[in-house]
Amino acid sequence: MARIVQKYGGTSVGDIERIKRVAERIKAARDEGNQLVVVVSARSGVTNELIARARAIHEHPSDREMDMLLATGEQETIALTAIALHALKVDAVSYTGAQAGIFTDAVHTKAKIKTINARPIEHDLKAGKVVIVAGFQGINEDGQITTLGRGGSDLTAIALAAAIKADKCEIYTDVDGVYTADPRVVKDARKLAEISYDEMLELASSGSKVMQSRSVEFAKKYDVVFEVRSSFNHNPGTIVKEEVVYMEQVVVRGVAVDKDQAKVIVSNIPDKPGSAAKVFRALAEANVIVDMIVQNIGHNGIANLTFTVPQGDSHRAEKALEPVFTELGGGEVAIHDQIAKLSVVGVGMKTHSGVAATLFQTLADQGINIELISTSEIKISVVIAAARADDAARAAHAAFGLEKAV
Ligand code: ADP
Ligand code: ASP
Ligand code: MG
Repeated sequence: MARIVQKYGGTSVGDIERIKRVAERIKAARDEGNQLVVVVSARSGVTNELIARARAIHEHPSDREMDMLLATGEQETIALTAIALHALKVDAVSYTGAQAGIFTDAVHTKAKIKTINARPIEHDLKAGKVVIVAGFQGINEDGQITTLGRGGSDLTAIALAAAIKADKCEIYTDVDGVYTADPRVVKDARKLAEISYDEMLELASSGSKVMQSRSVEFAKKYDVVFEVRSSFNHNPGTIVKEEVVYMEQVVVRGVAVDKDQAKVIVSNIPDKPGSAAKVFRALAEANVIVDMIVQNIGHNGIANLTFTVPQGDSHRAEKALEPVFTELGGGEVAIHDQIAKLSVVGVGMKTHSGVAATLFQTLADQGINIELISTSEIKISVVIAAARADDAARAAHAAFGLEKAV
């Protein structure tokens, strides 16, 4: 008997027929004698639809009310999944995040999990029940409903797997596993048998939405090995785990594109010690996530800074900077959102050189201009025009020979 956490994403529970099929899958795993905790997402499209409804009423709806609204998407699917299991004569119970004991901090719309009280789930598992938990949500100290950021059901699953010391964590989605690039964009992308936490994390935080990046961070921290696989077939998926030495033989593991970025250009701020600190302090206090920072050489006592933020944070960034400009006695901000970030990732970059040169030459050959560059030990990212992002991904994928089996 094993203790298994399964997570089914939005497409997998997208309609009644699919929910019934998921219930059969859960039953099959239960009939093998396993204990099961199942995390489900909202039906695909529902979260986006709820956001659109709120925005049709108010341009910037309150974060607390957004959490109240978005948490309903998962509440529908947990109940329907439990009912589908009852129809198959499987004892099952559905829980919201709060009922499942998932406690978070108070940052609405991107709360972090602080603790999980697994007692109610443990109790039900011992009683032989399948426990269905709403993904993407929790409750804060004040009893307010919070959500864990887009794609947050992955985090719910991985955090629960750690909390109940699951033997297995399976992330069921609409592709067979983690590919060398988004298979919907790069037709000859190849499924990876395994990938390290660090590579998965860099791909996820660079726009590969197959896994939420915070969930991968959590998995690495608590050493939760998990498998990404399809809910539509029984093919083996991709195992995500700690790096092993042979992984470094591959220089580039994958390519990711993030079209959800905006470029923020802060110009005409006084070029003196403390200016950058004030800018980024204000952004941090507004919970804006900043990436790829470039400061140009100052002229005539004036400095310019450019950085990227998630598109959804650009308005907050603009507002947060107003008082800073007043304090500094100058400054302007411009937002460009027709951009995309292209990243190539691989642990082999630690020991191989020439990746940047190959990437830049490939983009040059395509006539694609590079606006910003940043690197980490295992990643190179560039900001380019959004309209050329998919071409760039295909060209980079081919340039590094990622379609070929290793
Ligand atoms: P779910 O609703 O199951 O959480 P998501 O839509 O969040 O599923 O993530 C799965 C999608 O991620 C796939 O349909 C695929 O288009 C996209 N994707 C992006 N990059 C990759 C990649 N490298 N490997 C696999 N899928 C990817
Ligand atoms: N329903 C949420 C979203 O669309 C959470 C998830 O699907 O993981 O972002
Ligand atoms: Mg997802």
